[in-house]
Parts: sequence; structure tokens; C-alpha cells
Amino acid sequence: MKVNIINVHNYLSVSKLPDSDFVINPYIGCPHSCKYCYASFMKKFTNHCENWGDFIDVKICNTPINLKKIKNKKIFLGSVTDCYNDFEKEFKITQNILKQLINSDAEISISTKNKLIIRDIEILKNIKNLTVCISINTLDETFKNDMDKASSIEDRIKSLKILHENKIKTVCFISPIFPILTDFKSIIEQTKNYCDEYWFENLNLRYPYRIEILNYIKNKHPNLYPLYKNIFIDNDITFWQNLEKEITNYCLSNKINFKNYFYHEKIKK
Ligand code: SF4
Repeated sequence: MKVNIINVHNYLSVSKLPDSDFVINPYIGCPHSCKYCYASFMKKFTNHCENWGDFIDVKICNTPINLKKIKNKKIFLGSVTDCYNDFEKEFKITQNILKQLINSDAEISISTKNKLIIRDIEILKNIKNLTVCISINTLDETFKNDMDKASSIEDRIKSLKILHENKIKTVCFISPIFPILTDFKSIIEQTKNYCDEYWFENLNLRYPYRIEILNYIKNKHPNLYPLYKNIFIDNDITFWQNLEKEITNYCLSNKINFKNYFYHEKIKK
């Protein structure tokens, strides 16, 4: 793992994402190494020759966050890399940013797959308007371990519970949804006592990890390969359309708050 310390002038970047005005990414690179990581495109903008997951840039900024600038704005921490990757244990960049945000009037969201977030529970409790989003796309630890090096599913669920018990708004982000392998109803059943909301996103297979994921399915779940080929090679969106309806019906009939982030246009030709 190559670790670089870089100096930046500002932690805030204007967001291009829906539902946020600014993003903060305290690190570039992510040792969770998810095989489906959309953020791996960052590699080509940062002159890294290492594989995604084999480097991390730690951003140091000596300028305080401008709290006036973010008044009543939406701030998203960890939009492209997990701000609670394991290097945060040592560098505490995210922790220092959160300490600055305690007195802000911004709406803060944090997205992570790491139980390390619980280290900062006393700080999180004091942020006025906070949502913590933890990603879970399976209850199968073997599949999880095949796909990423982040915290176990058990630890992610425990983290949701602790956050919820401390009256912090929690979201379970069911993403990326792997056709058939992601059982969204079971995930909701396991987590519904600790989650205020669920978000859903379909799997997008982009270069360079597209082949790796399809080969994984071919080897580990050969019976599913025809379906994956249909979706990701033939670009048939019927599966996603049906799943989106199923999710909507399930959530409405079970009174579950949810947002759907399916991006059908990305899988069309
Ligand atoms: S946790 Fe997020 S940023 Fe990190 S490797 Fe996984 S998908 Fe990429």
C-alpha cells in the first residue's frame, strides 16, 4: 500500500451529485477495494500507476472549513472514497473535519462501509443535522469477502444499531444490487429496527471491472450467467424495471421510507 500525504487548500468541492451542494473526500483511493468500485476512475485523474485499493492519498488542509459558506447547504462526506477507510484510524482526517462541522448549520451526510465510524459516536451525536448511510448489499459474508475488504456485514449492522440507539438518522444503502444475489427483503428484515430509510441502486458494470465481475459470476454462479449476460452484455433493462416495481410495492406496503437511485440510462446502449 502506497501512502501519500498531500496538501489541499480546501476540503469542500462543489457537488455534481443529486441531493448535495458540496462533497468532502478526505482521502483519494480506498483500501476497501470493492471489485465493483465506481470511484476507481479517480485513478486516471491522479497519476497513480498502482491498482485501485493499493494507494491512498491523505489530504491535509490547514484552512478551517468556512461554516458561513455551507450554512443551510447539503454536505456529503465520502462521495468517491470511504472517509472511514482503515487509514482514518491513524490520520483522523475525517474526525477533525467532523469536529469542525459540529457548529455548522449544514445538512451533513456520511456514507461508509466501516465500523470505524462508531469511534466518533460522541462527535456524531453533537452534529445538528446528520444522516449516516451504511452500505449493505448482501447478508452472505462469503460473497461480501469476495467483493470487498470493508467491515463484515455483522459489524455494519451492529454499527447501524449503535447509531440508531444514539438517535442519529440512519440509512441502509442497498447497493450495488447484484441481480438475484442481493436479497433486498432479507436485508430490510435484518436491519429495519435500526434504519430510518433505505436507498437502492442497481449494479452498473463499467470498464475496467466489468469483465472481472462477469467472470466471477460465470465461475461461482454459472446458473446466473445467462441472466447477467442478458443484463450487462445485451443491455436488457427488463430485470431492473421489474425489480424497481417490486421494491416500490414492498416498501409502500410495509411503510418503509425509501429512495430509488436506479439509473436505467447508464445500462442502455
Ligand atoms: S468503499 Fe466505496 S470507494 Fe471504497 S472501494 Fe468500495 S465502492 Fe469504492
